[in-house]
Amino acid sequence: MSDQTQPWYWRLHWQILIAMALGIAAGLIGGPELVPKVGWLGTLFIKLLRMIIVPLVVFSIVSGVASVGGGRDLGRLFGKTVGYYLLSSALAVIVGLVAVNLVKPGVGANITGAETATVPELDTPSSPIELLLDIVPANVVEAAAEADMLAVIFFSILFGISIASVGEGHRNRLLGFFDAGFQVMMKLTGGVIRFAPIGVFGLITRLVGSSGFDSFRALGLYALTLVFSLSVHLFVTLPLLLILLGRIRPSIHFRNMIEALVMAFSTSSSGATLPVTLENVEKNVGVSNRISSFVLPMGATVNMDGTALYECAGALFIAQALGVDLSLWQQLIVVVTALLASVGAAAVPSAGLVVIFIVLEAIGLRGPQVELIVGAMLAIDRPLDMYRTAVNIFSDSCGAAIIARSEGETEVDRVVA
Ligand code: ASP
Repeated sequence: MSDQTQPWYWRLHWQILIAMALGIAAGLIGGPELVPKVGWLGTLFIKLLRMIIVPLVVFSIVSGVASVGGGRDLGRLFGKTVGYYLLSSALAVIVGLVAVNLVKPGVGANITGAETATVPELDTPSSPIELLLDIVPANVVEAAAEADMLAVIFFSILFGISIASVGEGHRNRLLGFFDAGFQVMMKLTGGVIRFAPIGVFGLITRLVGSSGFDSFRALGLYALTLVFSLSVHLFVTLPLLLILLGRIRPSIHFRNMIEALVMAFSTSSSGATLPVTLENVEKNVGVSNRISSFVLPMGATVNMDGTALYECAGALFIAQALGVDLSLWQQLIVVVTALLASVGAAAVPSAGLVVIFIVLEAIGLRGPQVELIVGAMLAIDRPLDMYRTAVNIFSDSCGAAIIARSEGETEVDRVVA
């Protein structure tokens, strides 16, 4: 990526860090009077993020699901792949859920200027049946217009599956179209994210100017909680899956995947890392092209363990910071929507933060305070994004290795005795 060849100050993560520092300084010096003057930059950035979410999710899911293609083994391979995606992402979400409930990084956090904060009304479905009815749109255009993301994701998955099962002519035409649309949306997302330093400056100035520096204490604990949970998933959960499901030695798998891990860490993009992931999985791990080309491209888009964990932990953190007590049922909604949101997140930097609105929306958390906290989270998002992207692609590679083993490929990594 051009990122690597440019001077350090031109790289996005440095610019975001500098913008954050400038925002802190401006907020501290300028105080509440400065807030209306620069706060709008943050609002503009959040609006840009919201603007791209519907087309990004639609193109990302439809092209990912549809690219699975046809063939005799499709059903079995598809079942195994989706089964693994679901299992690993669900485990990741549970790790995040448990960690945030134990550490409670958001409780008592003064991010929104506690005195003026009013607890938002919660508007959530009251039963599994209601949730199911909410997921299925009566009118898909209306669902998209209202950014009803669960309904949009549901329709996109069905649409992708249907594309894969129509005749070759139609399939190829639509595959080409949705793939092209996805590339365009990735480009557009990249352009919007390029605006992040200015947006972050506006958001942080507003944050510090209106509620002081205290907010960062809570964010520090939140970041540590996330790093801890991502580490648990990367170094405990996924290695356990490798051993139990694939009889694969984790230390060897880590060594085989090191280049892709470093690449994911430095690009913050599963999409940009995909060629390296494919190369490592085929050449080092020893998975056949038949399986890696099936599991990895779709995995880069829909199987994002780190992102799923982040969606769950981030949404719970916001609820805690707002003083909203989530019932068990609402937490279950967070788990399910975090999983779906991670499916909907594109494999580009900061995509996870864009789709957190899906989870928040599902439990009725919206409004300026929520946007303020998301803005604050964005300011420290880059290092977290780097780490969760590495977790995302490592999970894909574990899935490819485990599925290859289950398909009788014996040359995969080294077998634990
Ligand atoms: N950057 C992540 C990825 O590409 C997505 C996210 O923001 O969580 O995998």
